[in-house]
Amino acid sequence: MARVVVVGGGFGGLASAARLAKLGHEVTLLEARSELGGALGFVEQDGCRWDTGPTSTLLPAVIRDFFRKSGRPAEKEIDLVPAEPARQHRFEDGTVLDLPGGSRAAQLEAVEEALGKGAGARWVSYVDDFGEVWEALRKDYFERVWSAEHASKETHQLLESRLSLHKLVDKEFKDARLRTLALHPARLEGHEPRNVPAWVGVWAYVEQNFGAWTIPGGMGQLVDVLASRLQTRGVTALTDTTARDLIVEGGAVRGVRTESGEFAADAVVVAIDPRRLPSLAPLVERTMPCIPPVISHVGITGEVPELPHEVVLHGHEKRDPTLVVRTGGTAPEGMHAWTILGRGPLAEDLVTALARRGIKVHKQVETRIDRSPRELVSDWNGSPYGVLWQGRGTVRNRIGTVAPISGVYLAGAHTTPGAGLPSVGLSAALVAQAIGPA
Ligand SMILES: Cc1cc2nc3c(=O)[nH]c(=O)nc-3n(C[C@H](O)[C@H](O)[C@H](O)COP(=O)(O)OP(=O)(O)OC[C@H]3O[C@@H](n4cnc5c(N)ncnc54)[C@H](O)[C@@H]3O)c2cc1C
Repeated sequence: MARVVVVGGGFGGLASAARLAKLGHEVTLLEARSELGGALGFVEQDGCRWDTGPTSTLLPAVIRDFFRKSGRPAEKEIDLVPAEPARQHRFEDGTVLDLPGGSRAAQLEAVEEALGKGAGARWVSYVDDFGEVWEALRKDYFERVWSAEHASKETHQLLESRLSLHKLVDKEFKDARLRTLALHPARLEGHEPRNVPAWVGVWAYVEQNFGAWTIPGGMGQLVDVLASRLQTRGVTALTDTTARDLIVEGGAVRGVRTESGEFAADAVVVAIDPRRLPSLAPLVERTMPCIPPVISHVGITGEVPELPHEVVLHGHEKRDPTLVVRTGGTAPEGMHAWTILGRGPLAEDLVTALARRGIKVHKQVETRIDRSPRELVSDWNGSPYGVLWQGRGTVRNRIGTVAPISGVYLAGAHTTPGAGLPSVGLSAALVAQAIGPA
């Protein structure tokens, strides 16, 4: 049995710890904050409860697989249900599109109906083209620890391609609304589409094929389930414990140094931004973190417009911010708990900006919590959005699953395959694969 220390108690660290414990390792998890979960979790005020970060996930198989591989199946502990529609898009010209997830035929029909004749066919044809991309990446990059020797020629070509998502989308669509639709996920995460490799568009294929999923009452419920899974598997989880650096001797890791002492280890899983550990920071100096959006959690009283679980308000690409309303918070009788995210040129209060775009609840806000990107990064000890895309070189410039220090592995949003719950969940599976059974 190897002693493994996992640094970071976000979804990446929690999922890695549970999987490694199931494989028979002796696992200690170190979390700097006083609670586990990182971006995943709840914030509460005046009887309202909002998800702090994720409100839905793609690729539910990743979550289900995690539960299966670490003990009992997910169905026994959480209620993962389809989020339908995946989201509502409102475009600058007034077009409203309820985009379904999990069905090509349903997307074809919905896009055709909302955006006009031919638009649905163009959209599904764009998404179809990612089918082969998905198969190649899944085999060599998402579900198998990356190895240049084992990867197929197709995967090499994809990862090395100079084609950006922006260029691909520009070539595919004349309709500005379809371009906006295709670029939305990358923009929401804070990337400039010109710097995002085209293969990242594969998530549109994943959403169309496997749907968007949520947990009624909030994704934050996953944290308690994960924490109790750690307990069952005998993981020692220490909160209020900040890792200061790795202890490295003769090119191999020997443990982790914290303010409260040293933790000896045969292997260390770094599930935080590696920039925060001096031994790893020089290895990622050519990358930058991707910064979270501006957020307002609001509790609203009285009548509110009937909205699906997520509404995206797109404005003019250069002049207006993109606003996202997430309506799934829980609130006392007569109230509603919404979260508003803002990206792009935001020059006014989020609730005012929302009113200007037609969702007028500004006079009904009873309670609110505003969080700036800076506060969020400081509170979460790094950005849960991982590494900013700066072109195809970003894949090489970030550290992959296996770090170049013997015994050090990376999980979480800052490593392969990237940010978001499905990718972070995959990163934990990759770490378990790389370390193997005890
Ligand atoms: C506002 C917002 C909305 C989002 N919405 C979605 C969504 O709807 N769907 C989706 O799939 N994804 C979403 N995401 C992305 C997703 O939440 C993240 O990619 C994912 O949760 C990151 O998990 P992680 O474990 O890598 O990092 P984090 O959640 O950032 O966790 C890292 C943990 O490590 C701890 N830590 C840091 N440094 C140290 C140290 N030195 N020692 C010990 N501990 C340390 C931190 O305190 C933190 O708890 C959203 C993110 C945000 C911010």
